[in-house]
Amino acid sequence: MKTINILLLDDKEENIISLSALLEDVEHVNLISSTDPNDALKICWKEDVSIALVDVQMPKINGFEFVSILKSNPKTSHIMAIMVTAISKEDKYLLQGLESGAVDYLYKPLKPEITIAKVRSFVQQILVQQELKEKNRELEVSRQELLKTKEEAIQARKSKEIFLANMSHEIRTPINGIMGIMHMFKSSELSTEQRDWLKRLDNASQSLLLIINDILDLSKIDSGMLKIEFEDFSLSKMIEDINKIFKIKATHKNLDFEIEVDSEVPQYIRYDSLRLQQIISNFISNSLKFTESGSITLTVKFMEQKEDKSLLRFIVKDTGIGIKEDSVEKIFMAFEQADDGITKKFGGTGLGLAIVKRLAKLLNGQVGASSEYGKGSEFFFEGWFEASDHDQEQKENNAPSYNTFPKFNNMRVLVAEDNDLNSFMLAHMLRSWNCEVDIVRNGRLALENVEANHYDLILMDTHMPIMSGFEAIKEIKNHIIPEKHGIPIITISASVLEHEQAAAFQAGADGVIGKPFDPIELYQKIVDVSAKINS
Ligand code: ADP
Repeated sequence: MKTINILLLDDKEENIISLSALLEDVEHVNLISSTDPNDALKICWKEDVSIALVDVQMPKINGFEFVSILKSNPKTSHIMAIMVTAISKEDKYLLQGLESGAVDYLYKPLKPEITIAKVRSFVQQILVQQELKEKNRELEVSRQELLKTKEEAIQARKSKEIFLANMSHEIRTPINGIMGIMHMFKSSELSTEQRDWLKRLDNASQSLLLIINDILDLSKIDSGMLKIEFEDFSLSKMIEDINKIFKIKATHKNLDFEIEVDSEVPQYIRYDSLRLQQIISNFISNSLKFTESGSITLTVKFMEQKEDKSLLRFIVKDTGIGIKEDSVEKIFMAFEQADDGITKKFGGTGLGLAIVKRLAKLLNGQVGASSEYGKGSEFFFEGWFEASDHDQEQKENNAPSYNTFPKFNNMRVLVAEDNDLNSFMLAHMLRSWNCEVDIVRNGRLALENVEANHYDLILMDTHMPIMSGFEAIKEIKNHIIPEKHGIPIITISASVLEHEQAAAFQAGADGVIGKPFDPIELYQKIVDVSAKINS
C-alpha cells in the first residue's frame, strides 16, 4: 500500500517532537515537519502532502491564515488540515478554523488515543480516496480502450463491406465471363458429346456461383443489407417445382422423395418466395447429401389460423446419417459442421444452415432440427403466411437463345471493360444483335473514344484501372456537347451491394446490370434505356 505524507507545523520544536513520537505507530505515513509556516508552504507545494497538522498560534502567520493560503491554491487545496490548538474550544474559534478550510481540531494537551485515532481515520479516508482515484483512472483507461475497440470494430465492418464489394466483383466477373461464353457455345452447333461437356461446365459454374452467393448472402444479412421482398405467388407451384428438381436428384441416388401437403394449406400466399424456396431447398439438399438409402419427405403442415394468416410448418425428414445430440445446436452456426469428418467425406462450407437461420429470423419465422444419430434427421421452418388469391406474373424461364433476339438498327456501342473474357463475350452478344462494337479497357480510353466517335450506347464496367467507370460516366454526363452527354450508359457491376448500384445512378448511369447476367436481361436493359433516352 502507498504511504502518505503528513506535515507537522508548529513553531515550537518540542511540540513537533512530541507529536512525531505520538504518530510514530500510525501505519502508511511519512512525517515531514517544519517550525516555519513559509517553509511549510514551500513543502506543501513541492511534496505530495495529504494531511497537515497545523498549530493555530504562530508568530508570523497564524494557523487559520496558513490553512486559508493552502485552500486558495489549487495545487494545495486538497490537503486535509487539522488545527492543533491550545486556545479555547469556544464555537467562534471552532468556526474560524472550519471556515478557513480545516477539517477537524486537536486540542492541547493532546490526548494520545484521540490524536492517533483521528489521524488514522483521516489517513484511511485518504487511502480510500486514492484507491478510488486509481480505480477511476483504470476505468477511464478501459473506457478509452473500449472506445478504441468500438472504433476498430466500425472500421473492420467498413473494411468487410469494401472487401465484400471487391470480392464479389473480382469473383463474379470471371464467372460472368465463363457463363457468357457458355451461352455463346449453347447457341452454336455442337455434337452430343460437346453438349454433355457443356452441361457439366454449366453445373460446375452454377455450384461455384451458389457458394459465392452463400458467402455474399451471409455477409449481406450480417451487415443488414439483405431485404425481404414479399410478393403473391403460388405455393403449390413452388412445391411442384421443388418436387421436379429434387425428385430427379433423389432418383439418381436411389432414394424415395415424397411430398405431403395438408389440405388446409393455402394455394396462393404472400411471402418472400425466393427466400422460402432457399430455406426448403437447403434442407432437402442437405438431406440428399447425407442420406445413402431410404427416403426424404417434405411435409407442409397447417398448424393454426389467426385472422387472415396461417401458421405453416415445412418439415424435411430423412433416413440419413443423423446428427449427434450435442451437435444439433451448433450446426445452425456459421462455418459449423456436425463433426470434423463431414467436410472430408461430404464437402460443404457449413454456411447453408447459418443462412437459413438468419433468413428465418428476418422472416419472423423459426427453424429447428431434431435427429437420431445413425437413423435420420428432421429439419423444420415455421412461419406465418398471408393467404393470397393470385399469382404474380412469372418470368418466362426457358428464354430463347440470345442470337434469336430482334436485331438493333446499326447501333454503335462502346464497351469499357478491363476483363478480356467479359468484353469478348459482350462484343459477341452485341454483334449478334447487329451492333458495331468498340472495346476499351479503362475509363480514360472510354472518354477519348467518346470524344472521337459517335456512340448510341455505352456499357461501362464500374471497377477499372486508371479511371473508374463512375468517374468516366460523370465526365461524359457533364460533357458540353449535348449529343455526348445524352449517350445512354449502362453500368455492368459485379457488386451485389445496393449502395454501389445507387452510386452508379448517382454518377449519372441510365441503367445498372449485375454480373453475371442473362443475355435477355442485357437486351431488355438496352431496349429500356434507349426508350427512356429517346422519349
Ligand atoms: P454444409 O452442408 O455446407 O456443411 P450446412 O450449414 O448446410 O453446411 O450444414 C451444417 C452441418 O449440419 C453439415 O455439415 C452436417 O454436419 C449437418 N447436417 C445438415 N443437414 C443434415 C442432415 N440432413 N443429416 C445429417 N447432417 C446434417
